[in-house]
Amino acid sequence: MPALLTSSGRPGFYFRVLQEGAVGAGDEIVKVGEAKERMTVAEINALLYSPDHARDRLERARRIEALSPGWRASFEALLQNPSRGNAGLVPEAAAHPAAPGFRRLAVTAIDRESSDVLSLTMQSPDGQSLQTALPGQYLVLRLQPASGGAPLFRSYSLSGPLSTERYRISVKIEPDGAAGIWLRDNIRVGDSLDVSSPRGSFILESGERPVVLLSAGIGATPVLAMLSALAAVRSTRQVFWLHAARDREHHPFVAEVRRLMFALPRGRSFVCYSRPGPLDKLGEHFDCTGHFSRSVFGEAGVPPEADVYLCGPTGFMTDMKATLAAFGVAPERIHIEIFNGSEPMTPGVAAAVARVPHVPQ
Ligand SMILES: Cc1cc2nc3c(=O)[nH]c(=O)nc-3n(C[C@H](O)[C@H](O)[C@H](O)COP(=O)(O)OP(=O)(O)OC[C@H]3O[C@@H](n4cnc5c(N)ncnc54)[C@H](O)[C@@H]3O)c2cc1C
Repeated sequence: MPALLTSSGRPGFYFRVLQEGAVGAGDEIVKVGEAKERMTVAEINALLYSPDHARDRLERARRIEALSPGWRASFEALLQNPSRGNAGLVPEAAAHPAAPGFRRLAVTAIDRESSDVLSLTMQSPDGQSLQTALPGQYLVLRLQPASGGAPLFRSYSLSGPLSTERYRISVKIEPDGAAGIWLRDNIRVGDSLDVSSPRGSFILESGERPVVLLSAGIGATPVLAMLSALAAVRSTRQVFWLHAARDREHHPFVAEVRRLMFALPRGRSFVCYSRPGPLDKLGEHFDCTGHFSRSVFGEAGVPPEADVYLCGPTGFMTDMKATLAAFGVAPERIHIEIFNGSEPMTPGVAAAVARVPHVPQ
C-alpha cells in the first residue's frame, strides 16, 4: 500500500501548520516568503520515497527550514546511510503477489503444542490442491464468531512444512484474545474456516550464508516453516535455531524441532528459558537461563555474517535488533516479521507530545 501510494508521486501532504486558524474556499493565498533552496514538493517527496537519494539534493533538502523536523531528520538519516533508503517502502511485497479472497478449508487436525498454543491443520474439502507458500509466509483467517456480527480478521504464519495438500497454522491463545479463544472453544475437526492464500515477504532467501532463526514465544511459527524447508532439502548451510521461551510448559514444537535438526548436518539448536520451572533441566530441556545476549550468541557460535530471521514480541525484537547490531550483524542481514504492530513508521513526522485541538468557536 505505501509503495503504491508513494509511487503515484502525490503524497497528499503539502502544507505544514505553523499557526492554527481557519481557511476557507475563496480565501486568498499570498506568498510571504521564499526558501533559499527552492525545491518543489514533488522533488522533496521523490527524494524521500524513491530509490534515488543524490547526496547534493539531500544536503539541500536538509537546509530547508520550512520542512518539519521529522522530514529533516529523515533526510539526515539518509545522508548518514544512503544505501538503506526507506526500508518500509521497498516493494518486496509486490514481488510475491497473493491471490485475493478467501476459500473455505476444512480443519483436519487440531494439536496442542504447549500450554497455550494450538496447531490447526486445514485442507481443501474437495481435495483440490492449495497454493504453494514460500517458507515464512502467513495466511489471513476470516472468522465469524457471532452470526451477523462483524468478522474478525487475523493473520497466522504457516508453521508446517510446505505443502499443496495442507496448511498448518499455530495459534497462541492470548488471555482475552478474541480470535484465539474463539478458535479454541468453537473449532473442531471437520469444521470449515475462511482462509486466504499465503502472503508476506518475510521469506527464507536462498544462498549459502549461515542462517539464524531467532524467535521468542509464538514468533517461532514462521521460522519453524523455514527450518522445515531447510530440513526438507537437507541443507548444508549452517543453521542456528535460537528460541526463547518462558519455561518448558510454554515451549512449543520441541520434538518437531529436534527431528528437523537431525536432517541438518550443520544445524545447531540453542534454547533460552527466562523463568525455568522447578523440573526444567539445564542442558536437557534448555541451554541457557535468561535472555539472548551477545555472549549467548558467541557461546552458540553464531557467525556475524549470517542471515538472521527474527520474530517475537515487540520488546524481544527491539532488544535483539540492538544486540545483533552490537554483535556485528549488518542491518540488511536482519529480516523481521512483526505480529503485533509496532511504533508507527512515519518518516515525515517527528514524535511530539500530542496536543488536544482547540474547540471550534
Ligand atoms: C504477519 C503476522 C503473522 C502472525 N502469525 C501468528 C501466528 O503464527 N500465531 C499467532 O498466534 N499469532 C500470529 N499473529 C498474531 C495474530 O494475528 C493475532 O493478532 C493474535 O493471535 C491475537 O489475536 P486474538 O484475536 O486472539 O487476540 P486479540 O483479541 O486481538 O487480543 C490480543 C491481546 O491484546 C489484549 N487485548 C485485547 N483487547 C484489549 C484492550 N482493549 N486493552 C488491553 N488489552 C487488550 C488481549 O488480552 C490479548 O492479550 C500474526 C500476526 C501477523 C501480523
